[in-house]
Amino acid sequence: MRIMPSVLVVEDEPAIAELIAVNLRHNGFRPTWAMDSVSAQRELDAALPDLILLDWMLPGESGLSLAKRWRANERTKAIPLIMLTARGDEADRVAGLDAGADDYISKPFSTKELLARVRAVLRRHSPERTGEAIVIAGLSLDSATHRVTFGQQPLKLGPTEFKLLHYLMGHAERVHSRGQLLDKVWGDHVYIEERTVDVHVKRLREALGAAGSMVETVRGAGYRLTAKPVVPVIVDTNAILG
Ligand code: CA
Repeated sequence: MRIMPSVLVVEDEPAIAELIAVNLRHNGFRPTWAMDSVSAQRELDAALPDLILLDWMLPGESGLSLAKRWRANERTKAIPLIMLTARGDEADRVAGLDAGADDYISKPFSTKELLARVRAVLRRHSPERTGEAIVIAGLSLDSATHRVTFGQQPLKLGPTEFKLLHYLMGHAERVHSRGQLLDKVWGDHVYIEERTVDVHVKRLREALGAAGSMVETVRGAGYRLTAKPVVPVIVDTNAILG
């Protein structure tokens, strides 16, 4: 199972939107299209995409104003965002980046450039979404083949444990609350008790065997995957005395 990143394309010109959508689809993305700010907001309310391509010049509320609004909103502020625009001068580019855009593409653009930038921004934000294998301290997860190995040894994980590990490895060394993990791994708007996360973390640790200690509990905060697992210190007294 390969996770196809979803991309919300906010663009009022159907020909451009179609061109972008076709290219995204052919390259393993799941595009949805919104032609103005109202329908874009409706899409965001329904589900959070992995990335937003946002046209600057839209009928009604402008892309720049939308970008600022989404960045100020707790739920949408972290979604990677690329602005599309015919306005290529530096002042506009700065305004777009100031509004919180991660990147900026001037029209006309080549679809090759567009895809390269989409991948680059996704790689920065969510390496687990690019379809490349992630390797941390000997633990390797390949989302394309759905394989997990530790020191070449294949490991068997259930589907939820796989998704959980995928997310934790994609955002290693950061602490994630149970609520955040529910949102990111189980899906937005899904109501599940936070205790469910603990159950799956326990299963994940068991499935990881020796690498299980890489999944750390951060007391009062949540969980973290770290490259520096806590290993019990064995003091060899002979070595010290000898
Ligand atoms: Ca436009």
